[in-house]
Amino acid sequence: MDLQFSDEDLAFRDEVRAFLKTNLPANLLDRSDRGLHPIKEDIEAWQKSLHKKGWIAPNWPVEYGGTGWSLTQKYIYNREYFLSGAPQTIAFGLNMVGPVIYTFGTEAQKNEYLGDILASNTWWCQGYSEPGSGSDLASLRTKAERDGDDYVINGQKIWTSFAQHADMMFCLVRTNTECKPQEGISFILIDMNTPGIEVRPIIGLDQDHTLNEVFFENVRVPAQNLIGEENKGWTYAKYLLGHERNIIARVARSQYQLARLKKIARLERRGTGLLIEDNDFRRRIAKVEVDLMALEAMELRYLSQDIAGKKLMAEPSVLKIRGAEIAQAIKTLTVEALGPYGMVYEAEDQLTMRNDGPLGPDYAHGAMADHLYQRAATIYGGTNEIQRNIIAKLILR
Ligand SMILES: Cc1cc2nc3c(=O)[nH]c(=O)nc-3n(C[C@H](O)[C@H](O)[C@H](O)COP(=O)(O)OP(=O)(O)OC[C@H]3O[C@@H](n4cnc5c(N)ncnc54)[C@H](O)[C@@H]3O)c2cc1C
Repeated sequence: MDLQFSDEDLAFRDEVRAFLKTNLPANLLDRSDRGLHPIKEDIEAWQKSLHKKGWIAPNWPVEYGGTGWSLTQKYIYNREYFLSGAPQTIAFGLNMVGPVIYTFGTEAQKNEYLGDILASNTWWCQGYSEPGSGSDLASLRTKAERDGDDYVINGQKIWTSFAQHADMMFCLVRTNTECKPQEGISFILIDMNTPGIEVRPIIGLDQDHTLNEVFFENVRVPAQNLIGEENKGWTYAKYLLGHERNIIARVARSQYQLARLKKIARLERRGTGLLIEDNDFRRRIAKVEVDLMALEAMELRYLSQDIAGKKLMAEPSVLKIRGAEIAQAIKTLTVEALGPYGMVYEAEDQLTMRNDGPLGPDYAHGAMADHLYQRAATIYGGTNEIQRNIIAKLILR
């Protein structure tokens, strides 16, 4: 594998670094540092400035608004992006439904949706999971029945991230029950303001409202909102799930968070010295750092294979498992580093209502919420057990 970047790549890296340093808003960086979800208006404004720069959708083909970067440049961009501490852009439009629309959508659908996704004018959510249909997604039951020029949708989705903000949902619905489950699913785009849709909040372990249940009662959706062919939705859904692999390992994000952990360990006291001088804690930091270095080497090896045109198989699953486990280990150590202040959970609204400021040092706020939310990293996007099944099927058979 070739680990050398060319002079042009290094110049590109410097350009990305300089842009992020100058343009990343301080309040967004501060929330991202603490692991708190960005406020909708802030992340939209940030995405709009990336769009203005032309960097919002590196993975999209140039004809639809992509950057035309090489695989190496995309890697460098993502790396610098997360090393700067910037929060991940909201994936539902840019990384998920956008690629499905430009690959399988009609010209009318492309014209209607792609521009607004790039400009962050529309907020999308993902309607896949249902009660009883998560890992076994093909068993989903939300039904769409054709009635004239519309589909009429009845059923329920769950764990729908940010549905409370969403203008649109891309949704998997059952359009045929008389066949293999995968062959009776369709992929449809739903305006969230359509009568008959109810969004109910689910408050997470982190006491934040990111998750929702979404109920559909006789929701009429124009048939022109169907993507591709009826009953072929499983193909489009699988295409979408495989589309995110260059950020899946979160190496740079974890490196950033590890550096923050070390900074905290240099400030916190243990016994008569500093935490960073405590041998046991140092050993645990070293362990996670070595794991992260190994993950980075693995990611670079896969990048090298990707550039050489080798088809990747189970590699995204390997990266997802290790990336999520390492991210969780760093968050756990951060909470432990904060000692008693790490135990405190302060929801955001509790904090804003207090007039005596946060408990403990400023950098402690958010650590417990982040730690708790990160438990989900080994669940969403396909659980670690399911990823292991994929590896077993593709490599160990
Ligand atoms: C924070 C968060 C955000 C999410 N956002 C969204 C969203 O925006 N849109 C959306 O559609 N969904 C979303 N999800 C849902 C997510 O995709 C599902 O939670 C996930 O697919 C697991 O499904 P489940 O919760 O039904 O668990 P189950 O599938 O019921 O799994 C329960 C346990 O059994 C294990 N298991 C299941 N099947 C197997 C098997 N065959 N072999 C071995 N072990 C197995 C699982 O690994 C898990 O440990 C989100 C979830 C979380 C936690």
